Amino acid sequence: MKYVLVTGGVVSGLGKGVTASSIGVVLKACGLRITSIKIDPYLNTDAGTMSPFEHGEVFVLDDGGEVDLDLGNYERFLDLKLTRDNNITTGKIYQSVINKERKGDYLGKTVQVVPHITDAIQEWIERVSMIPVDGKEGPADVCVIELGGTIGDIESMPFIEALGQFSYHVGPGNFCLVHVSLVPVLNVVGEQKTKPTQHSVRGLRGLGLTPNILACRSTKALDENVKEKLSQFCHVPVANIVTLHDVTNIWHIPLLLKDQNAHEAILKVLNLQSVAWEPMLEEWTNRATTCDKLQDPVRIAMVGKYTGLSDSYLSVLKALLHASVACHRKLVVDWVPSADLEDATAKEAPDAHEAAWNLLKGADGILVPGGFGDRGVQGKILAANYARENNVPYLGICLGMQIAVIEFARSVMNLTGANSTEFNPDTTAPCVVFMPEGSKTHMGGTMRLGSRRTYFQVTGCKSAKLYGNASYVDERHRHRYEVNPDMVPEFEKAGLLFVGRDESGERMEIIELPDHPFFVGVQFHPEFKSRPGKPSALFLGLIAASSGQLDSWLQGPSHHRTATIGHNSSNGVTPNSYQNGHIKKPAKSLVNGNHHANGIGMHI
Ligand code: GLN
Repeated sequence: MKYVLVTGGVVSGLGKGVTASSIGVVLKACGLRITSIKIDPYLNTDAGTMSPFEHGEVFVLDDGGEVDLDLGNYERFLDLKLTRDNNITTGKIYQSVINKERKGDYLGKTVQVVPHITDAIQEWIERVSMIPVDGKEGPADVCVIELGGTIGDIESMPFIEALGQFSYHVGPGNFCLVHVSLVPVLNVVGEQKTKPTQHSVRGLRGLGLTPNILACRSTKALDENVKEKLSQFCHVPVANIVTLHDVTNIWHIPLLLKDQNAHEAILKVLNLQSVAWEPMLEEWTNRATTCDKLQDPVRIAMVGKYTGLSDSYLSVLKALLHASVACHRKLVVDWVPSADLEDATAKEAPDAHEAAWNLLKGADGILVPGGFGDRGVQGKILAANYARENNVPYLGICLGMQIAVIEFARSVMNLTGANSTEFNPDTTAPCVVFMPEGSKTHMGGTMRLGSRRTYFQVTGCKSAKLYGNASYVDERHRHRYEVNPDMVPEFEKAGLLFVGRDESGERMEIIELPDHPFFVGVQFHPEFKSRPGKPSALFLGLIAASSGQLDSWLQGPSHHRTATIGHNSSNGVTPNSYQNGHIKKPAKSLVNGNHHANGIGMHI
């Protein structure tokens, strides 16, 4: 196993995750198999309890791991299926060491950061790097490790010490350190400044790590004399200094690395030149240039709680982007703070209320993403109501599906008090209820999490067709509440169909309104399995419906099978078909460059 460690210096938010994933892409294009590990030096055991507003979205893995959003970058760029252990945190390492200490495994020794914590980190990396994550057998060739945070952070010290020992332990030729840094330009003089990078490399060396490659973030390509200066002061050959300057879209980054021969520099350090090919990146080049040329907009209103930080819904945005590119449309995301749609805002902040409604009414499609807590719920219900009554394409994800169910109960079934028990435990019509598997006292890792199977109940429904007429599909979940199964017959009688269910038939997974152009809600999160070039089926449905292309996509071949789908009805459920629209048997613009122009939020 060869290791590429990616560290960051000067400031956070340089796009280390993107750089690390892009290095993986270029090495994969050279014919190597890649795995990856993300180290987050915070104390939380996992990202599950962290606020998306502060930290960006919580990414969910097949195994139910709730992890840092950078793992989403790796899965999307490298088409991997990672495990929860591919995300290391200080919390996880200390927990494992303390558990061993309690068992008496340290035989009376004083347990210390060095060597016990540092050993545990190295053992973890060695063990996890051997897990195959690309669908093939046996370990990968190269493990890309990204160390979160910035060199000099107190909490990353044990990891730096461990990685220094690790590089010595695996030996030269097996370890390559890529340091991502910033080369700012002072506007007055217009000069590219190398001093911050010099300082951060000095800091790195002081901690026992020597960079092999420097990846410098800057607005423009580095001048040759600037590279020479960096080379001299940082003791890195000019050929090993690459510029990651601003690009029009994120898919250019692997191309930027390739054009500067970064792969050759890395392969040389890792002694892999003889086994690697010239990188084949035609697909990436096509996608990156196609994306630049898209002009016809598709406007999607994202009705959410955290509209101030796009990272809070990162995978949803990426899934929308993948689908938009497939439909040859330029994605325009209009952020609608759900609370602004509410009547109360009309009195308190009439301008905000009007602006929110204008955005919603101007959209080609509406998406209500997942969420927790009752803030802005009423606004989301109003958005679902608007979409349903005005035939505007709607995709509701997790909470967005529950919202659609509540709205339908209130408006169509006249159950005015209908609600989720998450928002009103005493509701008279509990159409969304607490799930037996959940916990109300412990928040970390206690939801229904990870990959679960959904069986289609009807063959003719839009979702089944979008999933390539599959009889089942595996998608990822993260929820505590679910549609109340006792009320399902009432709903179906009134016209809301539950076209996808779990193996028991009791748990509702997909809703559809058959007479609406596209009104779909899902209890799972399809965004986590969307890939560039392989958009998620239901996102494709939303974008296709929002740009007048749904019929042709429903009739055409399915190029869009990102989730694991199956064609055998192995639970014995035979899908029914629509009969007169009912089941017979009840059974800010993302891609225009600004998003990453300053290096902030540069995620894939
Ligand atoms: N809060 C809802 C639940 O726990 C929805 C969760 C979500 O949207 N991820 O079921």
